[in-house]
Amino acid sequence: MLMEQTLILIKPDAIEKRLTGIILSRFEALGLEIAGAKVVCATEELLREHYANLQGSPFLDGVLKFMLGEYNHLPDHRIHAFVLRGENAVARVRAALGATNPEKADPWTLRGQFGCIKNGVMQNAVHASGTPEEAQREINLWFKPEEVLK
Ligand code: UDP
Ligand code: MG
Repeated sequence: MLMEQTLILIKPDAIEKRLTGIILSRFEALGLEIAGAKVVCATEELLREHYANLQGSPFLDGVLKFMLGEYNHLPDHRIHAFVLRGENAVARVRAALGATNPEKADPWTLRGQFGCIKNGVMQNAVHASGTPEEAQREINLWFKPEEVLK
């Protein structure tokens, strides 16, 4: 049994549509446990660190604007952040999300159902860590150790 943790961020498009509960319920239905939960007023600095892999890419500016809520009337930059825990959590959560591009994601996945491309940005409702190593890095970025159940 491979117990893993993974970081979930509900993105501004999904927050605006009040989809947080629906998205979380899908992860709970997979048997995953919520080990951490908070509302974060994200800063550009935090988001640049989170998306360090996009450094130098032409769409980084659009992604930062999107994640800061500028396309979704969220002036306080709120993001809903969760740590989920369970067997093979990283891969199972990514499978539930579907492809990065919501127009290519299978229609029954979260991104296929709730995502769209707007303002040149893939507004795909939810972030999830891509690998266990990425998950540890991202959880440390968004949560203090005492905010996550052991
Ligand atoms: N993104 C985008 N256009 C692209 C690639 C990425 O708008 O061509 C955005 C999209 O919101 C994506 C995020 O940048 O979720 C991070 O990109 P990554 O390649 O890490 O995809 P993910 O891991 O989120 O599937
Ligand atoms: Mg990624």
